Amino acid sequence: MFNRSRRNLALWFTLSMGSILILFAGATYYLRAEDRMEATDRLLCKKTRLIAASLQYDLSADGPQVELENVPFLGNASRPLVSEILYVRWYDSRRQLQHFFGSPPPETIDISPGFRTIKPDRSYGQSQAAGEWLRQLTFPVYEENELIGYLQIAIPLTRLQADLQQFRLALMLSVLVALVLIGFTGWYLGGMAMQPIRQAYTQLQRFTADASHELRSPLSASLTNAQVALMMASECPQIRPSLENIIDSTQSMKHLVNNLLLLARHQGQLAPELLKPIDLSTFLEQLAVDYSVQAKTQNIKFIVHIPERPVEIWGDLDLLKQAVENLLNNACKYTPAGGTVWLRLERHSSWVVVQVVDTGVGIPAADLPYVFDRFYRVDAERTSDRDGFGLGLSLAQQVVQAHGGQLQATSIEQKGSTFQIELPMRDRPRV
Ligand code: ATP
Ligand code: MG
Repeated sequence: MFNRSRRNLALWFTLSMGSILILFAGATYYLRAEDRMEATDRLLCKKTRLIAASLQYDLSADGPQVELENVPFLGNASRPLVSEILYVRWYDSRRQLQHFFGSPPPETIDISPGFRTIKPDRSYGQSQAAGEWLRQLTFPVYEENELIGYLQIAIPLTRLQADLQQFRLALMLSVLVALVLIGFTGWYLGGMAMQPIRQAYTQLQRFTADASHELRSPLSASLTNAQVALMMASECPQIRPSLENIIDSTQSMKHLVNNLLLLARHQGQLAPELLKPIDLSTFLEQLAVDYSVQAKTQNIKFIVHIPERPVEIWGDLDLLKQAVENLLNNACKYTPAGGTVWLRLERHSSWVVVQVVDTGVGIPAADLPYVFDRFYRVDAERTSDRDGFGLGLSLAQQVVQAHGGQLQATSIEQKGSTFQIELPMRDRPRV
């Protein structure tokens, strides 16, 4: 129970801190990409302005005449041998391509002014490897407020992409390492948080066990004395009802104290040295004899399905007897006269199943998840005429879990209930 809570705490801590970390890493990556892109744009803008500055033109009556002779890349002037520029294109003011350097322009020409990131396809030339992006700037050139054309320049984003890829990798590795560290920290902190709870729980368990143990002797003494007084009260019939009441109440308190003691003592899995081989067939057959008598007195049909051959498991006979008895008690207690109760034992490859089925009052769906809680009883009205403390099922569940098994319940109100114990078929446990 504590380990599960500790695991959950560590998991939620890792998840929440991890989400914050991933958000933070995402924001850092975004800012870095923005920053690098801005630097690229500044460089591209500078190069474009330099080329635009070498344009020569004439403003004639037919419109501007642009001279490209001395323009780097476009004219006959020398071209720099080493340049990042992938292509330079000159469009006139009617957006018609006039001249270009580098890879030929695509069939569909887009010369809307501004920056654009392009993932090149075949139309952007063979020189660009697939996946490598380029940044293009379309720059409208004006003279005396008159548009004389558009200059379009592109440079590759290879370096930026490589830089960002490296940054992504570094971020991913850091987030991964941080997550592992956060997980360990969460586990450690969870352990620290659990410590006082575990201590308080252990103290409570010890107190319950000690108190129940100490209460058993005075209760037994009261019961014996009341029984003796009842035997001697034949001459005073007026005190008999009071003595019978004392006996009933003491017996029910003794039952409660015994259950509390069992609950407090048997926490967690049973130690291997406490497990003994048990033949469930024989054990349930004997139990069935007692309950068939009880069922008969309540006018309930009691049907038993138990295999004839032995079904052997390793367990604590007294505890298992208590668990099955609690289920059978409930089945008889919550089944009206004329109903039926079944006790079944089934053997599967690695599990044995003990089923107690009844056609009784059933349990409302809203109460079903809570019936295994200590002191939980389904609405007081229907249980008022049936004595009990609401401990039987929690005790049965604890016993089954101590054997490494599980207890499940299904029920339909006014139709009946099925309680199923599943126990593992284990080899002889190593002590
Ligand atoms: P105790 O077993 O301590 O004497 P109890 O029978 O009331 O008292 P549980 O055995 O823990 O307590 O059962 C819890 C509640 O679940 C019961 O009060 C009852 O309302 C409901 N319940 C349990 N078994 C059945 C059943 N077979 N049919 C209908 N209701 C059931
Ligand atoms: Mg009960």
